[in-house]
Amino acid sequence: MSRSVNCRRTFAASLALAVAAVTGVAVTGQVGAAGDAPRAISGQTGSDAAFKRISQVRRSAAATAAARTATASTSYTFTTMLDGQPMRWDPCTPIRWTANLSQAPAGGLEVLQEAVNRVAQVSGTTWEYVGASTATAASGYLPTRTQSTYPPVLLGWTDGASSDLLAGQAASVLGMTRTAWFGIQRADGSKVAATRAAVIALDRTDTLPLRGAMSWKALALHELGHVMGLGHISDRTQLMASVLPPVTDLQAGDQAGLTRVGRTAGCVVVR
Ligand SMILES: [Zn+2]
Repeated sequence: MSRSVNCRRTFAASLALAVAAVTGVAVTGQVGAAGDAPRAISGQTGSDAAFKRISQVRRSAAATAAARTATASTSYTFTTMLDGQPMRWDPCTPIRWTANLSQAPAGGLEVLQEAVNRVAQVSGTTWEYVGASTATAASGYLPTRTQSTYPPVLLGWTDGASSDLLAGQAASVLGMTRTAWFGIQRADGSKVAATRAAVIALDRTDTLPLRGAMSWKALALHELGHVMGLGHISDRTQLMASVLPPVTDLQAGDQAGLTRVGRTAGCVVVR
C-alpha cells in the first residue's frame, strides 16, 4: 500500500498571499516470511507545517469562534489508517524523547518540554525525556525495519543544508515531521502496527517567539500532533491546520483527535 499526498498544488493559488505549503508522503514496504506466519509490515509518514502572514492571520482569527462551535469535535484527521484504525503509538508504553539543542534558541528545551507535556496530558500518554542528543533531525534517524528497541523521538533545530526533511522546502515551512511504524500482517490478512519512531525537524533559520501565537511552542505542538498520528485538517482554526493559526494551544478538534490516538483508545499490541 502506498499513499502520497501533496497539497502544494492545492495551495499554489494562495501561496503568494498566504505562504502556505504542505507536503506529505507515506511509504509502505513489506518484508517477512511466506506462509502462515505473520509478515512484517512497516511504513513512514511525513508532514510539514507552514505559517501565513499577519494579514491572513487576522482574517483567520475572526472566523475562529463561529467555526469552533459547530466543527470542533470532529476537526481532526489521521495521517495513516491501517485496517480502519488510525496509526498510533501504543499509549500503554512510555514514549521516550530526546532533543538536539545545538542550534536551539535560548529556552528552547523548556518550550519543547512544555509542548510534550501538553500532548502527553491530552492524549494520556507518558513521555520520558532521555537527555539531549547530537543526532541531526533528518530522515536517516529513523529505523527502516523492526527492531527490539527504537530510538527516542527526536526533536531538533536544523536547516535545509543539514536535514533532508527541510532541504528544498519553501521558505514558509517551519518544521517537518516524519514517523515510522512497524507491525504485522497476520495469516488471515488482518494487520496491526504501531508508530515506533519519529523525528521533528524545526527550521532554525526561522525567527519565532518561544511562546504565544505562531511560536516555537505552537509549532512543536503541531508537529507533535503529527508524531501522534494526526494529519492536517482543513478547519483553519485548529492547530493541526497546515498553516499555523494564531492560537497558542491545542484546539478542540486537535484535542479530540489526540484522544482518539491516546490512552483511552486502548493499548496497541502487535502480535
Ligand atoms: Zn503539519
